[in-house]
Amino acid sequence: MDYSALMKKDKYVANAISSELERQRFGLEMIPSENYCSVAVLEAMGSIFNSKYSEGYPGKRYYGGQEFTDLVETLATERAKKLFDVDHANVQPYSGSPANMAAYAALLKPGDKLMGMTLSHGGHLTHGHGINFSAQRYTAVHYGVNEKTHLIDYSEVENIAKKEKPKIIVAGATAYPREYDFKAFGEIAESVGAYLLADIAHISGLIIAGVHQSPSKQADVITSTTHKTLRGPRGGLILSKKEHAQAIDRAIFPMLQGGPHMNAIAAKAVCFKEALDQSFKDYGKQTVKNAKVLADRLMEQGLTLSTDGTDNHLILADVTPKGLTGGEAESVLDEVGITVNKNTIPFDKRKPFDPSGIRLGTPALTTRGMKEHEMEKIAEFIVNALDNHDNALIKARIHDEVKDLCAEFPLYAELGGFE
Ligand SMILES: *Cc1c(COP(=O)(O)O)cnc(C)c1O
Repeated sequence: MDYSALMKKDKYVANAISSELERQRFGLEMIPSENYCSVAVLEAMGSIFNSKYSEGYPGKRYYGGQEFTDLVETLATERAKKLFDVDHANVQPYSGSPANMAAYAALLKPGDKLMGMTLSHGGHLTHGHGINFSAQRYTAVHYGVNEKTHLIDYSEVENIAKKEKPKIIVAGATAYPREYDFKAFGEIAESVGAYLLADIAHISGLIIAGVHQSPSKQADVITSTTHKTLRGPRGGLILSKKEHAQAIDRAIFPMLQGGPHMNAIAAKAVCFKEALDQSFKDYGKQTVKNAKVLADRLMEQGLTLSTDGTDNHLILADVTPKGLTGGEAESVLDEVGITVNKNTIPFDKRKPFDPSGIRLGTPALTTRGMKEHEMEKIAEFIVNALDNHDNALIKARIHDEVKDLCAEFPLYAELGGFE
């Protein structure tokens, strides 16, 4: 891409983008919800489809001039259905949260009961958290993880479902390092006559790669982001059984959204084409292999991990054994060029804004081409930085090593620089 027009027009924004590109190139991005999409996806996202209004769906629009919007939206929809082996796909959600809002709007009436994982155990805000629309518009009840194992206890989920009789059960989370048993969720939902919503925002790429089971047989509706492990543009996606297709489409438009972002839909089509390729399966497998090596090394060097490891792309580490809070660990790692986020550990004794843990993951590093060997090095950087959080000299040395490692795995070389 050529940023010459932007540099001429607005040097402040151009400089911010240029600096962010350098930050991404020379830092280790370990926030598990982040990834680097391809330049092809960026080109579609930044394309002239940005201008086009196309309220409605292919063949049924409220504006003229739709031959090419219909073409890309149909491509995106068909590819999504093939990728996830589902009857219906809606590629218009602006992001993951609006996708959940639409799924609820399609299946529930205001006041109906929704059961999701509690935020402090890894659930998402949209799964019924008090300050979110999902708890204000619906009646929210929660399940969590077991206090000893930090695993979802399916018999406990069943007990709560039997007692509460929710209209919908949400399976999915933002900070659960293990595989979800969608079959168990499906059986529980069926036994209480609830719909099952699988929110696969974090794990959609792993499902495509075959390293995580798919909910496509059990779930009535599946929602996802397209920018996390799926590695596409920032956006959302809803998949469903045929019987819910019309309700889902109407919930997105005209109920919740106006004109779809056709540039994002074109970029989703590109992302789904990439994800249909064998190389994406290899990517998903490597992402999980990398997370397992990282988890093992961190544990060997004194960190306590929730569930003692990981099955997926993310790790939840208690850093208090190193004499630090999650927030302090996040800052120390920032200083050495490693980006993670502070995170509550289930049954955390500390407060949500000042929790005991950090959440970290491998999707972005794996996209750069890093493998097990690099994960071993990175685990050492992390532990070394945490152990020497007061030592500026050691932190500076680790930061240099981080930059050297990043230089070995160039990022967005095609984009060049801003000179
Ligand atoms: C990220 C995420 C979302 C929300 O996605 P946004 O695009 O940030 O709105 C919803 N559910 C889960 C489980 C997520 O991890």
